Amino acid sequence: MMTKDIKGDFPILKNGLIFLDNSATTQKPTKVIKAVKEYYEQDNANVHRGIYKLAQKSTVLYEKAHEVVANFIGAEFEEIIFTKGTTEGLNLLAYSLGKNLNAGDEIVLSEMEHHSNIVPWQQIAKEKGAVLKFIPITKEYRLDMEKAAELITEKTKIVSIVHMSNVLGTINPVKEIAELAHEVGAVMIVDAAQSVPHLPVNVKESNCDFLVFSGHKMCAPTGIGVLYGRKELLKEMQPFLYGGDMIKEVTFEQSTWNELPWKFEAGTPNLAGAAGLLAAVEYLQEIGMNNVEAHGKKLMKYALEKLSVIPEVTVIGPAEVENRGPIISLNIEGMHPHDLSEMLDRENIAVRGGFHCAMPLFSKLGLDGSIRASFYIYNSKEDADRLVNAVMKAVEQAKKEEGVINRAEITPGDLTEEQELYKENVIDHYKHPRNKKEIEDYTAKYREVNPICGDTVTMYVKNNNGTIEEISFTGSGCAISQASASLLTENLKGKDIEEAKKFNQQEVFALLGIPISHTRTKCALLPLKTLHHALEEM
Ligand code: PMP
Repeated sequence: MMTKDIKGDFPILKNGLIFLDNSATTQKPTKVIKAVKEYYEQDNANVHRGIYKLAQKSTVLYEKAHEVVANFIGAEFEEIIFTKGTTEGLNLLAYSLGKNLNAGDEIVLSEMEHHSNIVPWQQIAKEKGAVLKFIPITKEYRLDMEKAAELITEKTKIVSIVHMSNVLGTINPVKEIAELAHEVGAVMIVDAAQSVPHLPVNVKESNCDFLVFSGHKMCAPTGIGVLYGRKELLKEMQPFLYGGDMIKEVTFEQSTWNELPWKFEAGTPNLAGAAGLLAAVEYLQEIGMNNVEAHGKKLMKYALEKLSVIPEVTVIGPAEVENRGPIISLNIEGMHPHDLSEMLDRENIAVRGGFHCAMPLFSKLGLDGSIRASFYIYNSKEDADRLVNAVMKAVEQAKKEEGVINRAEITPGDLTEEQELYKENVIDHYKHPRNKKEIEDYTAKYREVNPICGDTVTMYVKNNNGTIEEISFTGSGCAISQASASLLTENLKGKDIEEAKKFNQQEVFALLGIPISHTRTKCALLPLKTLHHALEEM
């Protein structure tokens, strides 16, 4: 019942869209859209500067946003720093805390981290000679807590763990991990990008030292996020960015820092974003975070039950619904996630397909990505039914002789007679790829990845006096990237290297001969891009 009323609050959902990509970003309710509009219409002036009335009004609103967010997660006003989002928060921490690291110090992360909670630490570790350790995951897609206790030692200075995995939905015992961290004097950071939007989170209860999240995953605009830090630690910490608003006094020789939280907010902040975040938090508080959590859990349980009876579906995440959020990653037999997500799009269901910014997790699981359906407050049981039905339909189509290209790429009836012939050819190349093998005595070899969907292609070329004597490819990917690689290699075998260097995008589209949607052009062109890199190396 709650969902019906709530859906009406979101203008973008009025046309029947089933939006299940909420882990990537959520839609915005009218209250938030209005708050941003009203900010520009009634309140716009820079903060902490002018003494005129409008500037004061804007400042009061901006500070109120900090206060409301602090209250939302059980923090104090000085402990709330506005950032661009989770990624910036984690970069800020890696930079500022990283200054105190020494060679041999250890940073403990987990195998289920988002790239945003891996890459900044990799960079700092490289710079400082620190060592990264990863808490492994169990077969049930949970953190191995015995291993966690072994990995967190006197050498550990920082522990940074995701609260709710954006791939698995697993909710990690961050309080327990914080205890392990504190026992050895390390700081505990929580990546709460997925948990704060879905659960009541209290930073004092969770006993963490820092916690980061993004407004856009909880109904607020993009470009505004939050870093919570314990006051005592923030006072000691060095700023990340330098410039206006974060200073107290500046001379030509030196500067002193402003008080908290402004010490960490250099430059003109995202003021309209803060007004939107304030409205979003108020909106969620009106619903009640306990209700938000219960609603997500109900949908997740319902969808998992329905999916569990389809034998071709594999859910990548805990089967147990306790300590699990409403994020469901899955694969179906015989269809690449990228093809599956495009098929769901044909039913007006938006899900994400690919690696979900967690490539190391997928490589550990030995998977070529997944599709991910993530529910939020405006999703209903009917949305879950639509998802399950569309998945079942895809399962049936994956089994059919035609393969997936004709279903996934083209609306039947859209094609001319000539395109129909091309379609058959493309399907044939997908199902029976030519030249898909390694060449041992190659002259050049190059591997490319499409970071969006995770398709990989490695091209091998053997040069014989300026002619392509052999050309082949390996890798994995969606139907379009595989067919494109097969067609391209077949076409270029025996041609001049110089001619191959000039082979262009339009020629690849001509080889495919079927309409390629905008979202799939990267897939279609990945083999060509890889080939050009290989040829450059000659
Ligand atoms: N961590 C997790 C767990 C996430 O899900 C995301 C977003 N997918 C991020 C970090 C990065 O968030 P943002 O892109 O808003 O900085």
